[in-house]
Amino acid sequence: MPKKTDYHVHPDYSLDAEQVKIKTYCRRALELGLKEICFTTHMEFAKLEQGNDKLVYYQGKPYSLLNYNWLDAYFKEIQQAQQEFKKDGLQVKAGVEIGYHRKYAKEIEKVVSQYPFDYVLGAIHNLAGYSIASKVESASYFAARDLATVQHDYFSLLAEAVKTGLFDAIAHLDIYCRYGMRHYGEQITTIHRGVIEPIFAEMAKRKMALEINTSSRSRLLKEFHPAKEIVALAAKAGLKYFTVGSDAHRLEELGRHLHEALSLLREFKLTNCVYTRRRAIPLSTSNLNQFTQHKQPGHSLHMANYGKHHQSGRH
Ligand SMILES: [Zn+2]
Ligand SMILES: [Zn+2]
Repeated sequence: MPKKTDYHVHPDYSLDAEQVKIKTYCRRALELGLKEICFTTHMEFAKLEQGNDKLVYYQGKPYSLLNYNWLDAYFKEIQQAQQEFKKDGLQVKAGVEIGYHRKYAKEIEKVVSQYPFDYVLGAIHNLAGYSIASKVESASYFAARDLATVQHDYFSLLAEAVKTGLFDAIAHLDIYCRYGMRHYGEQITTIHRGVIEPIFAEMAKRKMALEINTSSRSRLLKEFHPAKEIVALAAKAGLKYFTVGSDAHRLEELGRHLHEALSLLREFKLTNCVYTRRRAIPLSTSNLNQFTQHKQPGHSLHMANYGKHHQSGRH
């Protein structure tokens, strides 16, 4: 039996998630037989462009993304859960899902270097000011654009996000299919062809991971994000690190279809990974390898010091 891990979970700090506490998710993870759960609350920097900074949920209301008091509380809750659930054999990790926007790259760098994240998941949610992960906003975005424009907008931003070196993994790579399928039909499932290859080459060079995100199944798509064809291209490009995540925004979504996602990785002889302080630990190889699997030299972001942040970094 492969170890089951869920590396994409939105607790109540995410504005679009149900009010489910970190510990409640952990209890459910134990019931589901998960060995590891990684919380990845949203930090949607792209949305700051629209003049609204109340992008997280804290103290019973929408709260400023950039006032990191909420992030201190998030880490504290995760640390408490780590202690509480250790005896039951559940590892609890502190991650984040960052919606990339080029204008906020400096701010993103600041937050990921000041906080001791285990796992930083990069996502492209927002194109030309519209969230393509939202049914309503994506409809407005798609209505005025042909597929060549969608391809250009999405993959040029993704290439840039990869090259920043800020992210350990890329979330739900073909998220544009979520709502794009109903607008453009099957043709949207081909727009990665010819443009994803150099991006995967860069990700392989940087030892970045690709996420297999199972949320697509609950939206009546046949494939995961990304689709099998894209996973095959990732394997061909030499990507070594993969994670699996349910993208749960509700308790009942935790762990959904993880078994099938792990089967998909096995089919391509790919390795599911977990992360500790931004280092990938492949699960199917011996622990002897774990300390050699890190990002390329010169990457200083593992040096996060939470204690230091508490003294000087708050803003
Ligand atoms: Zn996402
Ligand atoms: Zn998510």
